[in-house]
Amino acid sequence: MKDASAHRYAIIGAGPSGLAAARALQKAGIAFDGYEASRGVGGLWDIENPRSTMYESAHLISSRTTTEFTEFPMRTKADYPGHRELITYFRDFADHFGLTEHFRFDTKVTSLEPTDDGGWMLRADASDDTVERRYAGVILANGTLAEPNIPVFRGTFTGELLHTAVYKSATQLTGRRVLIIGAGNSGCDIAVDAVHHAASVEMSVRRGYYFVPRYLFGKPSDTLNQGRPLPARIKQFVDTRVLRAFTGDPVRFGFPKPDYKIYESHPIVNTLILGHLGQGDLRIVPDVDRFDGRTVHFRDGSSGEYDTVVLATGYKLDYPFVDRAALEWSGMAPRLFLNTFTPTFNGLYVMGMIEASGIGWQGRYEQAELIAAYLTALEHHPERAAAFRARVTGEPWPDLTGGYNYLGLERMAYYVNKDAYRGAVRTATRALLTDAAPRRPRRRRSAARKKATA
Ligand SMILES: Cc1cc2nc3c(=O)[nH]c(=O)nc-3n(C[C@H](O)[C@H](O)[C@H](O)COP(=O)(O)OP(=O)(O)OC[C@H]3O[C@@H](n4cnc5c(N)ncnc54)[C@H](O)[C@@H]3O)c2cc1C
Repeated sequence: MKDASAHRYAIIGAGPSGLAAARALQKAGIAFDGYEASRGVGGLWDIENPRSTMYESAHLISSRTTTEFTEFPMRTKADYPGHRELITYFRDFADHFGLTEHFRFDTKVTSLEPTDDGGWMLRADASDDTVERRYAGVILANGTLAEPNIPVFRGTFTGELLHTAVYKSATQLTGRRVLIIGAGNSGCDIAVDAVHHAASVEMSVRRGYYFVPRYLFGKPSDTLNQGRPLPARIKQFVDTRVLRAFTGDPVRFGFPKPDYKIYESHPIVNTLILGHLGQGDLRIVPDVDRFDGRTVHFRDGSSGEYDTVVLATGYKLDYPFVDRAALEWSGMAPRLFLNTFTPTFNGLYVMGMIEASGIGWQGRYEQAELIAAYLTALEHHPERAAAFRARVTGEPWPDLTGGYNYLGLERMAYYVNKDAYRGAVRTATRALLTDAAPRRPRRRRSAARKKATA
């Protein structure tokens, strides 16, 4: 009798990436089981998920039409819906396509170990049970924004120190003197929340940022120029001038001048913060030098007294249930072909380990289609799968930077340009679905520039 686990796969996580994987495998007729630690689908968009880093005021940063799954448009007309609409969207998506019943909820994967026959033994804890099951391969879709990155500071802060991961609502900051460290998208959202509740708000930044308005020329800004990407240098030239015209120079509000060009780091899609700076509701302060009780000393010799320090210092990749060697970690991230395939093709596939401006859930779905195409080839066209592996191990990897010279920061370790990435993924998928050899990729993804340090 044929072993039922020979071609059965596991998916870890029922967030947007896990759902994308489930849908792609379903369409390809590949058997799978999903495991989700939380109570339902939707990943971090379910604010009740204990691992969720969502907060009450959060809305999409990328606009609805560039973010949604193409085959399942959102029902809302809002351009930037909030997290409550989004969790409903994911539940509807999973129910509509019959994906929900493939997942086992409240079941946390605790370990993955290779088996002697080339598969993986998955172990998981449920509230009243433990699971141990062998799979042909496993798709890791456990999210990238859950494990806080907590920098080490000199000295000790004796007030409240919290990371954005545990920030839920502005009421947490009521009446407090707040210092936010870092001005990423979450840090800026929280600063905008805080000005309505806190006694005072200051934001400590190390470098300058580019602030993109949600709307340009009356349209969601990321919908302009869709499908016709300009060469990097031209886009940088044009967008720098457009931003200067719309948002002015953030240096006026106390931000340092960026020492890099636009799109060489993740832009901040928030101009409300500039409005509040202009109103004097918050103040930009320099990089932190050290803590001393409730006092924070800054690099320029100034200092301030605070009740709460919010670390908006980002997240670290974390795949705690599997040996790091199996994912070929190199520095801050696993080294994976198209951020998906281990070069040894050991049966582990990573979904959603892509940080990019505007890749959306459709971009993640295309990544899932590539995995499904490879798994289909493994079973039905082994020669295509072998040709794919030969290209991955024997040829330069595609350049995923899109010509942008990304900053050499920890958080940029798995950053890609969405157009370059989606183009490379589609090319690879096409090659797996046909016998045609793809065009040669241009060059290996260049190491991120090391001109700035974290
Ligand atoms: C405030 C905020 C705003 C954002 N805005 C946008 C935006 O506008 N556009 C955009 O494209 N992206 C945005 N994002 C990024 C967001 O990460 C993605 O939209 C998306 O949620 C990523 O999906 P995912 O499935 O990869 O990860 P997640 O949504 O994090 O889902 C991972 C799932 O895996 C589960 N899990 C983890 N470990 C285990 C385990 N051991 N066993 C079983 N299950 C496990 C978790 O419970 C979770 O449900 C935003 C993120 C935040 C925090």
